[in-house]
Amino acid sequence: MEAGDLSMFDWLIVNGRVIDGTGRQPFFADVGIVGEQIAAVGQLFHAEAKNRIDAMGKFVVPGFIDIHTHFDIALLAHPEAYCSISQGVTTVVIGNCGHSPVPIVGKRRNELRQLLSVIEAGIEWRWERFGEFLDELEAVRPAVNIVPLVGHCALRASIVGFENRPAKTDELKAMQRLMEECMDEGAWGLSSGLIYPPSAFASIDELVALNEVVARRGGIYATHMRSESDALLTAVVEALQTAIRSGVKLQISHHKASRKPNWGKVEVTLQLIERAALSHDVNFDAYPYTAGSSYLAQLLPLWAFEGGPSAMLERLKDKHQRQQILEALESDKSLEWDKVLVASVASDEYRPLQGKAVTEIANQLGLSPAETVLHLIEHEQNAVTMVWFVMDERDVERVLTHPLCLIGSDALTIPASIEPRPSPLVPRPISSLPYVHPRTYGTFPKVLRWLVKENGKLTWHEAIAKMTGKTAEKLGLKRRGLVRESYFADLIVFDPERVRDCATYENPHLPAEGIEWVFVNGVPALANGQPTGDRNGQVLRFGSDL
Ligand SMILES: [Zn+2]
Repeated sequence: MEAGDLSMFDWLIVNGRVIDGTGRQPFFADVGIVGEQIAAVGQLFHAEAKNRIDAMGKFVVPGFIDIHTHFDIALLAHPEAYCSISQGVTTVVIGNCGHSPVPIVGKRRNELRQLLSVIEAGIEWRWERFGEFLDELEAVRPAVNIVPLVGHCALRASIVGFENRPAKTDELKAMQRLMEECMDEGAWGLSSGLIYPPSAFASIDELVALNEVVARRGGIYATHMRSESDALLTAVVEALQTAIRSGVKLQISHHKASRKPNWGKVEVTLQLIERAALSHDVNFDAYPYTAGSSYLAQLLPLWAFEGGPSAMLERLKDKHQRQQILEALESDKSLEWDKVLVASVASDEYRPLQGKAVTEIANQLGLSPAETVLHLIEHEQNAVTMVWFVMDERDVERVLTHPLCLIGSDALTIPASIEPRPSPLVPRPISSLPYVHPRTYGTFPKVLRWLVKENGKLTWHEAIAKMTGKTAEKLGLKRRGLVRESYFADLIVFDPERVRDCATYENPHLPAEGIEWVFVNGVPALANGQPTGDRNGQVLRFGSDL
């Protein structure tokens, strides 16, 4: 569109530099929005517009796509998703690490619910089928667009249950059929969580068979691999084999080398992945922190979970089995207890323990660290998470800066909405909110601050492509992830001078700075850095045109 064209834009962003998400260099252009779409990109200064934003000195980029979240249920409780919007995220992928609350049939519902207790949010489960769950998400009008995956835990729980055994032939067929139905109803693919029950009880043959269904329809397979520590290399080979044998598009989730003896192994895994990527669609994602976060019960040996989370809690009541679990924990020499923080808990009673190291809590309770862990899991009925420092910063940097790496926060939950940023920054007391990993608020701005601004390991346009265009291409999202005419107007205006993450392990609930405008489908969710309260996200159903 040329200057002087009489058409009227709803929004016109002028004087900014566009980073379009393809990986090409920034360029000066104005961006005009009509309705939910980008109507024009070019010299538009003289065009008429109902609303005009002067982006002098700012970057105009596609909305960030968070390829790895666990917001499935949290979105029902907190559809405003302020932790995402405030860092520029306009689309989230849910159902990761094998964990989705759907599909689920009657009698396994409670077990699955207990497995997902840390991302549960106290919502009533009113769904069985995949499409029904998406209807629920749609009804709350989320602020962000949603790309849903089927969690393998739910799929296997529905058909096989929580037993540790191979699926029988008819069960495998039933899982394939269910997977197919889920994709018909809008799922973009499958995720596995091969350290979590019951996903961990599946063989590679089962994963290949299920992914053949996904591959036939062009979906993706995201995997939390069978090991991220001692058996990391074998696990990467299994993931690559699954993709090669089934033909599915592979996304290795939150790639890392966990625990000190394994640091440096990513040099090898990146080579393995690179080689596979020559002939297959393979990527991975990461977040820019050296601490991970998961259930506290992830530290327990897998056999403790045979039969499901309630069987695990029963075992803790049995003197003999409790002793065995305790010994397994105590014999794990690469576990450093002062590096494991207890994050969120379910009970008010233990809320003051949030954010404290296991060693500190152990002292307080007069227990050994391993006994403390078992006590907490029992007391909180498994609804207790941890933040643990397990990675080497050099590994994290190497992974993030690799061209095949996309950015995903792995955030577990959406904290209740906090008030707009106080000025000056006043951290809220941890006790009033569940403790979360700072990645919840800081992932995307931290990549920009750390890897672009501070150490120059990525250029602006390389970093933005990892958060937008490359991610959209991986998922197969149509008309999203780029600043381009006729694309959906998911856009961010940010100040490259000011952009930075503010959330820390001490004060994790601080939103980022420098993100000024966030548009979701043409409507601002953030204006001049403040939430507008408008929620204009779409539940994106696989195969539909949105
Ligand atoms: Zn995971």
